[in-house]
Amino acid sequence: MPHSLLVTGGAGFIGSNFVRYLLAHDPDVRIVNLDLLTYAGSLENLKDLPDPARHTFVQGDICDRALVEDLFRRYQVDTVVHFAAESHVDRSILGPAQFIQTNIVGTFTLLEAARQAWLKEGIVPVEQARFHHVSTDEVFGSLEPHDPPFTETTPYNPRSPYSASKASSDHLVRAYHHTYGLPVSITNCSNNYGPYQFPEKLIPLMIFNALNGKPLPIYGDGQQVRDWLYVEDHCEAIWKVVCEGKLGETYNIGGGNNPANLQVVHTLCDILDELLPHSPHAPHRSLIQFVADRPGHDRRYAMDIRKIQRELGWSPRETLASGLRKTVQWYLSHPDWIEAIRQTSDLSGWMEKNYARRGGNP
Ligand code: NAD
Repeated sequence: MPHSLLVTGGAGFIGSNFVRYLLAHDPDVRIVNLDLLTYAGSLENLKDLPDPARHTFVQGDICDRALVEDLFRRYQVDTVVHFAAESHVDRSILGPAQFIQTNIVGTFTLLEAARQAWLKEGIVPVEQARFHHVSTDEVFGSLEPHDPPFTETTPYNPRSPYSASKASSDHLVRAYHHTYGLPVSITNCSNNYGPYQFPEKLIPLMIFNALNGKPLPIYGDGQQVRDWLYVEDHCEAIWKVVCEGKLGETYNIGGGNNPANLQVVHTLCDILDELLPHSPHAPHRSLIQFVADRPGHDRRYAMDIRKIQRELGWSPRETLASGLRKTVQWYLSHPDWIEAIRQTSDLSGWMEKNYARRGGNP
């Protein structure tokens, strides 16, 4: 079983949920959390951790080879769970360079450090080591309405700078397994939602704006279809793969639902109407506004998750309805987190510039 974990990007949305999940569920692990604290990462996400003595935070860059190698040696790292990335498609369209640096060069740097520590220096027995890479369904491209869902063998067809950089990092991870025998695994997951998600992504953006009576911007016709997974289900699936998944293998993870974006926003509005019947902004659906579509916007993603279900016995616990309700309730009960994120991020400026650039509203 893994003991000494290097988690990268553990102050971001999924990474911080993973750290929290692991400290609560596995009493034997120690975690070193390496995060640069870009706009997307925040120590606010790591407040009130269960058993915090088993967690060490290090602010630093995954591209810093000397730092990463030092962490491997100092903490005798036997397991890497690699989340750190630039993760927002819109930002990758506006400025792709940082995506190439972090997602490709950063992953390469971590792989080289793991190869040095495990295969050359033998700081821990290699049979106890694993490099787990967290990736996305966006590497597979876009599906037509009647195409079958993505499987683990669907050819890659990334279509944005974000998904191309993630695809590239996936290929590097596999190449290090085949070329050097580095013990690796990969998961490709659909869209996540839940607590601590930075409010530039669809679901928290809609909740934030709805609570403030601001327009709810929907790209294009809102008929883009996605699979949605509650973040804690993702954390559980990753941990299953890290502990029991076959080395060199890829596992798809998803929620098994396929709503259109507009349908997700309608559901959120209905939950808010129900939980806040006296809100001056109810009915919240009246806040919906359609804005110019994202360039090259993928139409449909869907995930075939039968491999992880069959081999590792994992399935999502939350339905989309139950997960969305939990998420709205979490945001309503964490106004301090919302305020802290608002104050420490460039959120409002970025949002306004981005939507204005496309002629959208707000
Ligand atoms: P996020 O943007 O919320 O967090 C990314 C974290 O990485 C931040 O804390 C940031 O500070 C850190 N980071 C960025 N550059 C860094 C660097 N150079 N060095 C160290 N840390 C750095 O992202 P997320 O939504 O939590 O996604 C985490 C991972 O999961 C990503 O690899 C993403 O591709 C993947 N993923 C995300 C989703 C989703 O729906 N959010 C779905 C599937 C896969």
